[in-house]
Amino acid sequence: MERAAVVLGSATPSVTTIHAAAQGRLTLLELPERVEGRPMPRVELVAMKGNKETLSAALSACLAETYEQGRQAIVFLNRRGFATFLVCADCGKPLTCPNCSVTLTYHRQRRQSLCHYCDYAVPAPGTCPSCNGTTLSELGAGTEKLEHDLKELLPSARVLRMDSDTTSGKGSHERLLSRMNDGSADILVGTQMIAKGHDFPEVTLVGVVNAEASLGMPDFRAAERTFQLLSQVIGRAGRGEKPGRVVVQALDTDHYAIKSAAEHDAAGFYREELEFRREAGYPPFAFLAAFAISGMSEQAVSEQADTTSRLLVRLKAELKVRVEILGPAPSPIYRLRNRFRRQILLKGANRNDLHRLISSWRQQASVMSTVRISVDIDPVDMM
Ligand SMILES: [Zn+2]
Ligand SMILES: [Zn+2]
Repeated sequence: MERAAVVLGSATPSVTTIHAAAQGRLTLLELPERVEGRPMPRVELVAMKGNKETLSAALSACLAETYEQGRQAIVFLNRRGFATFLVCADCGKPLTCPNCSVTLTYHRQRRQSLCHYCDYAVPAPGTCPSCNGTTLSELGAGTEKLEHDLKELLPSARVLRMDSDTTSGKGSHERLLSRMNDGSADILVGTQMIAKGHDFPEVTLVGVVNAEASLGMPDFRAAERTFQLLSQVIGRAGRGEKPGRVVVQALDTDHYAIKSAAEHDAAGFYREELEFRREAGYPPFAFLAAFAISGMSEQAVSEQADTTSRLLVRLKAELKVRVEILGPAPSPIYRLRNRFRRQILLKGANRNDLHRLISSWRQQASVMSTVRISVDIDPVDMM
């Protein structure tokens, strides 16, 4: 009404936004240069296949050099979060679902790898579908181990650890950051929370450990999130007058999310990711809706999920709509605040089909009083 313009600003726009710009639905304005024309940091990719150490020889050497020069370093640990998954030691690839192209989540107690979109399951650890390798293992060390290894490498360096354990107290976050700023620390070790926003002009080296960990999220956006995260972390190096360098350690250094982040090749990443989304049928080439079924009784939730899915399948046939129905499957966070959670994912080639199916479901559904169903259109968080 006011003919106002909206400016969306990001160093790492979403794949969907870039696609909308390519189609002319948004106007793309670029700022291709860094502040004061500073060069992007030099990035070295280190393949960790077959290497059991947390710190590679290349990263260790760079850390020692940076410390001797009296400069600061950041070591970023990409953490897998709550979900665990299995990675093949031979080819470096995580186990993924053949139906949904998302990573399978490893359930130690059930000895299964499970897809949280469609309920596909295989015995774990099992064999690698890409190369038939039989050495499948859980990935990753924690920040404490990393801190320990850094102290062993450089005993006189002052190492700060920043993760949810060390920043839970009031003001502790700021205290840690101010010690980096006033030069009373040499190395900052941390998780996702050090990726964004901090500007440390004396930091000339950034190390990334477990670059592929976020590829293991049971979400079709795992590659996008990994690319965004790595680009942000890489951008921490060389923000002052001294040029920066970055060492990225990964099991699978060929993965396009890791490779294109290391090469500052956003265009290349968007091209590959859009190709993947088109082939696998995910947004922006399809529309999603997620049914979340939850309740205190595991049995009731399971029954309700089954009847919901049966009704959706029947309505789909009656309406002759082009919608794919995946699941029911347990949600990645299966139990939250005492409620059991299952989900059904709908993938539609167009919005109209999806809406027709959901509205006729709303008219006919009978939901148990102890169970809650919420329908999320264009879900962003599928945990
Ligand atoms: Zn393999
Ligand atoms: Zn699946």
